[in-house]
Amino acid sequence: MKPHVPTLISRKRDGEHLGDKEIRGLIDGYVAGEVPDYQMAAFAMAVFFKGMNAAETAALTRAMLESGDRFEHPAGHPPVVDKHSTGGIGDKVSLPLAPLVACTGAWVPMVSGRGLGITGGTLDKLESIPGFSVKLDLEAASAQLSRLGVVMMGQTERFCPADKKLYALRDVTGTVASAPLITASIMAKKLAESLDRLVLDVKYGSGAFMKTEKDARILADAMVAVGQKMGVEVRALLSPMSEPLGRTVGNALEVGEALECLEGGGPGDLRELVLDLAETISPAPRAELERLLDDGSARLKFDELVHAQGGDPSDLPRLGEIHRAPTIREVPAPDTGTVASVDAGLIGQAALQLGAGRARAHDGVDFSVGFDRLVKCGESVHQGAPLCRIHARSDVDFDIAEALLDQAIRIEP
Ligand code: URA
Repeated sequence: MKPHVPTLISRKRDGEHLGDKEIRGLIDGYVAGEVPDYQMAAFAMAVFFKGMNAAETAALTRAMLESGDRFEHPAGHPPVVDKHSTGGIGDKVSLPLAPLVACTGAWVPMVSGRGLGITGGTLDKLESIPGFSVKLDLEAASAQLSRLGVVMMGQTERFCPADKKLYALRDVTGTVASAPLITASIMAKKLAESLDRLVLDVKYGSGAFMKTEKDARILADAMVAVGQKMGVEVRALLSPMSEPLGRTVGNALEVGEALECLEGGGPGDLRELVLDLAETISPAPRAELERLLDDGSARLKFDELVHAQGGDPSDLPRLGEIHRAPTIREVPAPDTGTVASVDAGLIGQAALQLGAGRARAHDGVDFSVGFDRLVKCGESVHQGAPLCRIHARSDVDFDIAEALLDQAIRIEP
């Protein structure tokens, strides 16, 4: 029997616990188009405020997982591994990590999402590469996985369809930062990949959905518990997101920085996090992973991935010209001193205002806008020297972003 959806919404709003069948009925109805977005948005908001217990979270994850197909890897396959981040500002880790780990002989069937709330998404970043398709069917994805060891794709109508719809809805309805919704969204995608091992990068701070380390730990424990229950070896690393990762924020700008990392360079915090996470899931030791970044092997694998998914690797060095914002200007430091904070939350907000994210579910994103050459905490700056460059669609947008940046960066004498 189909659940009466207004009743489910009201009961969750009043803090009641829902049963497996009720949650399953809601998700199946949503995927079938019988439950409209407005009811699902109301339900997500009720969960945001009232939460879900462990049994409800597990039921939601299972219903979302079983809303679509799963990878079926052939007998005798290499270790199948992946990492997923709970989302942060300037978090482009997946782009270097997936090809790097594939170089060690593991298979990485990475299913990611688009921008969510103030955080950027791997799919939007990848789509800034002309021709790159993240819309693969499972047969093509499996064939690529056995050929290259890596595929990077999004949810489809057949693969995690419940997350495809709910993810886009949460992005624009203020319902992202909910531990049970994040757990089900991430774990449904990862379980559908039929993994042997998963590492979760659970972020906390102003630019993350969990603002405190304590809340990040609760989220991490919930995801690890769901994974273990379903037979996957899951580890969670907690990482701070009080300042952006690396020195770029914005889709094409972040791909540029990911390429630097794939060539053995790039900012130190990005490289370290890529190595920390890769080391947790890959069969190779850290020294080998470092070598694969430094000797160009990981970069070559990324080129193969781009080629396999419809892009042209020769476009990669030209991405900055292909997506060139009309206004690119430096922001000068107001004082001389040491950078005490670069508030990731405000920078993420500014990136959204510039057009790097969405306001409505079917909006496009502007690949060209964002920040680069961002200062990092602890660095010394001189009055008038650049704190960063803003890439904007207009002078008006530049001014709005500059005002937010002014609040975000604190310089102490
Ligand atoms: N990443 C996801 O895939 N889902 C979330 O809800 C948050 C981060």
